[in-house]
Amino acid sequence: MAPLELLIELAYFVASILFILCLRGLSSPEQARRGIFYGELGMLIAVVATLAKSEIVSYEWIIAGIVLGGAIGTAISLRIPMTKMPERIAFSHAFGGLATSLVGVVEFHKLKGITATTAILAGEGGHHLDRITMTALGFEVFLGGITFTGSIIAFGKLQGIITGAPVTWRAQNVMNIGAFFGALALLLYQVVLPSTAPVWMFFTLYATGLALGILAVLPIGGADMPVVISLLNSYAGLAACAMGFALDSKILIISGALDGSSGFLLSMMMSKAMNRSFSNVIFGAFGTGDSGGVAQLGPARSFNEATVQDAAAVLQAAQSVIVVPGYGMAVSQAQHAVRDLAAALEKNGTEVRYAIHPVAGRMPGHMNVLLAEANISYDALFDLDMINDDFARTDAVLVVGANDVVNPAAKTDKTSPIYGMPVFNVEQSRSVIVLKRTMNPGFAGVENELFFQPNTMMVLGDAKKTIQGLVAEVKGGSH
Ligand code: NDP
Repeated sequence: MAPLELLIELAYFVASILFILCLRGLSSPEQARRGIFYGELGMLIAVVATLAKSEIVSYEWIIAGIVLGGAIGTAISLRIPMTKMPERIAFSHAFGGLATSLVGVVEFHKLKGITATTAILAGEGGHHLDRITMTALGFEVFLGGITFTGSIIAFGKLQGIITGAPVTWRAQNVMNIGAFFGALALLLYQVVLPSTAPVWMFFTLYATGLALGILAVLPIGGADMPVVISLLNSYAGLAACAMGFALDSKILIISGALDGSSGFLLSMMMSKAMNRSFSNVIFGAFGTGDSGGVAQLGPARSFNEATVQDAAAVLQAAQSVIVVPGYGMAVSQAQHAVRDLAAALEKNGTEVRYAIHPVAGRMPGHMNVLLAEANISYDALFDLDMINDDFARTDAVLVVGANDVVNPAAKTDKTSPIYGMPVFNVEQSRSVIVLKRTMNPGFAGVENELFFQPNTMMVLGDAKKTIQGLVAEVKGGSH
């Protein structure tokens, strides 16, 4: 092996280790930033090593692509608010899927020896394709196609360009399954007869992938999109892995496999934390994406509506407070106000902790990211298992825009769609203060008994404004 090649292989090895360290880091909030850094460094090393390859004859187009893509990516990332992260990720995956599938088309083109569109239409074939390469190319364009269109639909749903409600039609599952097996048959034919299979088969396989992305994601509710995006991420990883086999690139095989498996595991974990089976998310048409959109509410009931002053008095009298953030905190961007309130309470000698539910918000780690942005110490954040027994011993709980994750129906009502989802035992604490704008339900669209309990105070209004009022009260009343 030439010294340059050896160096490149070594660089790929280092990059692969950094990718693994990146995933390792991402498994805990404290190490997540370092994990991201390892991932970035690994990617930089892999890209530089690839650019050093002798196969590259000219750099003009590559540099133009890097500059243009880098500029667009930087501009988007700097402007995007945290609440729009799932949309941003869906958008990136779409182009990842498109790029992967287009590389597959180019490689197929090269290996089949096609020189003109007329040749494609005439079904001409070459003789350079072996079975393994054909399998890899087939998976690459099929999965890449699904990822591209599926992610665009997911983005559209989250952004409100397409309705967040599940779009369903008759025999939809039969149609999707039919398309899937049709694609499989096309792939099989081409794998068995790679050099003589007509070229149109390859492009039909690609087109089926593109169509399936749309057909499979349209019936899924907007609020389930984070699970779908994570699954599409896994498809993009598998497509990249297939590309690695087609191009004989170890780094693509390794990074694609890591991406594919971690994305799949994350989707599974998210479904589990919501107590929904994976198939229920994919085929279940559940969740509209809008708070209160699928509400099944009974007649209006009375509840304890409290003022900011009432709530501040309870918090000031408490020795221990647990803050439970939820999706509403992200909507109102209340994390900085929450930090200020905690600081004011701690100054009075109150112990303040945060209870973080695995599916609070709309993406994994949503609350961790927001609280970290407000410089709230990781030591004050507690997972469900770590804090759930402490609610019974806590003076006051401050629920900031959380709903489903504090709904006792998940423990008691077998008919509830969230029955079985692990939830915080918030109702067991001495006093509960709930901050939300209305009495509307959360993501699952079910009424929350917590809001009607005698020890619960409802302070209705935007969470950030309410908390700013609480800070002023607590600071004004402190001595
Ligand atoms: P929910 O969606 O159950 O409730 C959020 C609450 O926030 C709403 O009831 C809403 O009430 C309130 N809210 C919205 N805007 C504001 C505001 N500006 N100020 C104050 N309150 C506000 O959120 P949870 O975090 O409790 O639960 C997350 C749900 O999302 C779970 O059902 C989970 O399964 C699901 N999910 C989570 C994913 C994840 O990865 N984290 C992925 C997909 C789904 P109102 O409108 O009255 O203000």
